[in-house]
Amino acid sequence: MDDLSVAAQWVQAAQRIVVLTGAGISTDSGIPDFRGPNGVWTKNPAAEKASTLQHYLEDPELRKLAWRNRLTSTTWEAQPNVAHHSLVELERRGQLLALVTQNIDELHQRAGHDPAKVIEVHGTMRWSRCWGCNDRRPMQSVLDRVRAGEEDPPCELCGGILKSDTISFGQALVPEVIEAALAAAERCDLLVAAGSSLSVFPAANVVPRAKSAGAKVIIANGEPTKMDRFADRLLLGPLSETIPALCANPD
Ligand code: NAD
Repeated sequence: MDDLSVAAQWVQAAQRIVVLTGAGISTDSGIPDFRGPNGVWTKNPAAEKASTLQHYLEDPELRKLAWRNRLTSTTWEAQPNVAHHSLVELERRGQLLALVTQNIDELHQRAGHDPAKVIEVHGTMRWSRCWGCNDRRPMQSVLDRVRAGEEDPPCELCGGILKSDTISFGQALVPEVIEAALAAAERCDLLVAAGSSLSVFPAANVVPRAKSAGAKVIIANGEPTKMDRFADRLLLGPLSETIPALCANPD
């Protein structure tokens, strides 16, 4: 039996699945990843600077650029693709313990997951947060201010610096969120990692944590990952093919 068929049988038999997703699951929705062959940083290494907390906080010009980029981003219109929709089937069948995502695009929730099942370890681009007082608001309300002429809109409550409610490089993760992800990894009987280079930590630790707790591990990606040595099955190929096959309803 080929690897995909074996892996699909494991999915059908599993009772507590944790899925870990990365940017690769959203490329077919038109959102580029960072490190894949067409990744933002692969093509333009300087773009990494804008995602670094220290630079963002210190450099008003960089923030103005970041707000302009947010305003014109095509990501706001992105829709879930077949891989996102397929994963919702696992939840409908009562098999999904948690969906841990490194993505910030909320496409899993838009595909139909119960938001309570989705653990966003790197936050969400659809909300803003004040660096000074932590005030959290829908991103679109801040973008309306940028559209109206504010180049680097300050917090309306305290005047602090606003950024998207995402985890930038150099920024600590929210402890309860990453702990929830790792705790789910320890309770699952099957871990599926999809569309991640598994090179960003501590999120990537979900894989060895699940493995050492006794779960089977399936890694689906378009190229090798940093965690392939932990995989019981590696599914190399486009996620638009592997994920629907993996999540297909049993006959
Ligand atoms: P990554 O860019 O490091 O890796 C993505 C992987 O997906 C690559 O190995 C690439 O080859 C693979 N891939 C891309 N499209 C694929 C496809 N259609 N089929 C199969 N494989 C495919 O992404 P990462 O591991 O998630 O780490 C990047 C960080 O950047 C994350 O922490 C995330 O927060 C952030 N990010 C998020 C988004 C998003 O929300 N959609 C987009 C870019 C970056």
